[in-house]
Amino acid sequence: TRFHDLDLPLDLMHAIADLGFEYCSPIQARSLPHTLNGHDMVGKAQTGTGKTAAFLVTIIDDLLKNPFDGERYAGEARSLIIAPTRELVMQIADDAKLLCKYTDLKIHTLVGGMDYGKQQRALQTELVDILVATPGRLLDFCGNRDVHLDQTEFLVIDEADRMLDMGFIPQVRRIVRQTPRKTHRQTMFFSATFTPEVDSLVEQWTDDPVKVEI
Ligand code: AMP
Repeated sequence: TRFHDLDLPLDLMHAIADLGFEYCSPIQARSLPHTLNGHDMVGKAQTGTGKTAAFLVTIIDDLLKNPFDGERYAGEARSLIIAPTRELVMQIADDAKLLCKYTDLKIHTLVGGMDYGKQQRALQTELVDILVATPGRLLDFCGNRDVHLDQTEFLVIDEADRMLDMGFIPQVRRIVRQTPRKTHRQTMFFSATFTPEVDSLVEQWTDDPVKVEI
């Protein structure tokens, strides 16, 4: 599959071309035809497979094709990507910035150890189209009502197995509970390994997902 065959918005296509991507990687070829139509997905994939672009292209395509028509409040995130580490959050946000460079979509990151006030001001002064965050810091912002997830249309859980290993699942569970219920949002769930515990999260958080194993 070529990106050209996917009917993506031009501003997104240009950014993909600038990155030098022409053909979809296997995980992209097998997930995008479904996720671009709004289906949930579960991906068994490591880093290096192109999973980041798979979920970012899905989100950006929809954000561009369906501009939010209601009134937006400060801190209201249209899409949320949860990842276990600061490094991973920054890497995802960097990829998102490259893919959004011809659009006016706004990307925000929340990770522990960063200046709270600075992040808070950014969230208040700009719209939040794509929010990339680690679970603990995100919960602080939700608790202080600096971030609102009740209008979040996309939820990405990246590296679920690592979040389990790091003991983050109770926090992730509290975050997911603040988003619309699973039939009212699109969820993309990634893990390199699947255990009964991971399967149980898939069951709870995704709705009839397409399953892609790389
Ligand atoms: P990821 O697995 O998301 O960490 O991506 C691994 C690397 O593959 C990143 O450096 C991406 O920029 C690159 N990449 C992702 N999709 C493609 C593609 N379709 N063609 C070429 N490179 C890609």
